[in-house]
Amino acid sequence: MKIIMLGAPGAGKGTQAKMIAEKYGIPHISTGDIFRANIKNGTQLGMEAKQYMDKGLLVPDELTVKILLDRVAQDDCKKGYVLDGFPRTIPQAEVLDKALTELGDKIDYAIDVDVPDENIVRRMGGRRACLSCGATYHIEHVPPKKEGICDTCGQELVLRDDDKPETVQNRLNVYHEQTQPLIEFYQAKGVLKTVDGTVDMKDVFTAITEILK
Ligand code: ADP
Ligand code: AMP
Repeated sequence: MKIIMLGAPGAGKGTQAKMIAEKYGIPHISTGDIFRANIKNGTQLGMEAKQYMDKGLLVPDELTVKILLDRVAQDDCKKGYVLDGFPRTIPQAEVLDKALTELGDKIDYAIDVDVPDENIVRRMGGRRACLSCGATYHIEHVPPKKEGICDTCGQELVLRDDDKPETVQNRLNVYHEQTQPLIEFYQAKGVLKTVDGTVDMKDVFTAITEILK
């Protein structure tokens, strides 16, 4: 099963993708997590990506597409995967589509987690991320057991640089301009499903599992 999560930054794509990955035993692939791991490890890719990420801009397609195609070619992706944060532009979607078509394969579901902009800014300010293992929390909705510390790996939680309010508005603008057109792209392919992302995260997940049945 090959699934794409669509939605604005902060809509809950990562939260739902992790639950899908666990329930269906497929890898959760987040290009944002891959970039953050590269930044943390001080790689060339990380240094290049950071310049764009800190401003709320998209990392150029040339850098992004290659890491994604390399990742989905790995053995653990044979049964499928859930993509979170990729594709984010029409050219990225076209490259993925072409690569899958060449393998006689296709995306099964593109799930749009729908959350209006008003809710997003509030959510992002409360998000806390573990840069070590990729776990995500929210100070009100999903607090860690011990304030500021990751439940999973014990590392310190941070407010991501790109979750600061001044950057969030840029990211929303970029989303509407460059990523939202993917909704029509996948609708035309007959694989688009939309869920209400404003309800409790368990209820969002229930709606998704109904779709994937
Ligand atoms: P995305 O991957 O789309 O950027 P996340 O999954 O990281 O978004 O979610 C953004 C923030 O909102 C996180 O702090 C997360 O804990 C919180 N969150 C996710 N889903 C919900 C929900 N249904 N209701 C309230 N808060 C949520
Ligand atoms: P995310 O963790 O998905 O919110 O991504 C954080 C940031 O990483 C984005 O704001 C972009 O700067 C960058 N990024 C992640 N995925 C992509 C992608 N598919 N294309 C371009 N930039 C991306």
